[in-house]
Amino acid sequence: MSMAATDSGPAARGSRSRRLERLAPGLAATLGLALSLVGCAPRAMDRTELALGTVCSIRVLDGASEAALDAAFARLRDIEATMSANAPGTVVDAVNRAAGSGAVAAPSDLRALARRALELAEASGGAFDPTVGPLVALWGIGFDTERVPAPGEIAAALPLVDRRGLVVDESAGTMALARAGMRLDLGGIAKGYAADEVARILTEHGVKAAVVDLGGNVKVVGRKPDRKPWRVGIQNPFSDRGERLGLATLPGGYTVVTSGVYERHFRGDDGAEYHHLIDPATGYPADGGLVSVTVIAESSMDADGLSTALFVMGPERGFALAEAYGVGAVYVRDDKGVLMNERARAVFELESGAFRLEAPVP
Ligand code: AMP
Ligand code: MG
Repeated sequence: MSMAATDSGPAARGSRSRRLERLAPGLAATLGLALSLVGCAPRAMDRTELALGTVCSIRVLDGASEAALDAAFARLRDIEATMSANAPGTVVDAVNRAAGSGAVAAPSDLRALARRALELAEASGGAFDPTVGPLVALWGIGFDTERVPAPGEIAAALPLVDRRGLVVDESAGTMALARAGMRLDLGGIAKGYAADEVARILTEHGVKAAVVDLGGNVKVVGRKPDRKPWRVGIQNPFSDRGERLGLATLPGGYTVVTSGVYERHFRGDDGAEYHHLIDPATGYPADGGLVSVTVIAESSMDADGLSTALFVMGPERGFALAEAYGVGAVYVRDDKGVLMNERARAVFELESGAFRLEAPVP
């Protein structure tokens, strides 16, 4: 309703108050003050669309405009049209089709994301690998091709997963995969990059407070109208979306990103459950007794890549990597044990009584 009042516009307000001024000067002054207060009320707007293979919603609490939301969603569609590995005609698709036979012109944003993905691949000892594509395609998890591959198929795909075979040439403005059959897949990091981009674009368009939620990859922007810190829920990995494990209390600019087995999984013909977080060392879904890993950071791109990496690495190696990147990390095990590093404990409060906080990790 405050939006409708603001939408009536200064021109309409001006002429109305001028007429009132002549009739009842005192009332006009009071009304004028009230109207100008309404004019200062935070301008809120919501929009939800499908993009990047997930539900993307942007909730602006202050400084909203159609132009800001239009620009944000246009950027999401642009990122999808460039970076999706699963749609024909994207640049990543062209790089994959040209694998083993040459380089493909790639825009600077894609090159930058690929280089950041390669840095994380190096830092994680290959637990995160943007060339995991052949394995992701083989398992087909989340698509109608999903199935448990034969061990021979996995053995054949493993050598094609090789971060050293992804070449990003900044001077030529190209990207290439060294061998036929290699396949780039930025699905583990692109949503985070997209959340950072949306935050940047909203701010450029005068948005003062917003929550960007790209399929559970959440970033808070600016300062809440009530001046209180933001509170971002972490999904309870054992229940349907909506129920919380707990709440993170954060300043604007922070992001909370979770990689969980509940996001994409299927039951194989053998009766076992398989999820979408693949260990490039084995070719099988990472099997560390974990159900989710949440990363709390400022860069959503890093948090997204790290949540995938930390899941594959497990808590021992994973907490060391979280420290190296200076981010908070929350591990949830399948026995409902919860492990957090110091940075996570400072901002995250476990709410659900069904979980057990384990000894602090150094
Ligand atoms: P996320 O939900 O962000 O953890 O990303 C999961 C997606 O990342 C999967 O659907 C794959 O497209 C991709 N992925 C799976 N395993 C890996 C891995 N080990 N390294 C990099 N990307 C991966
Ligand atoms: Mg990720």
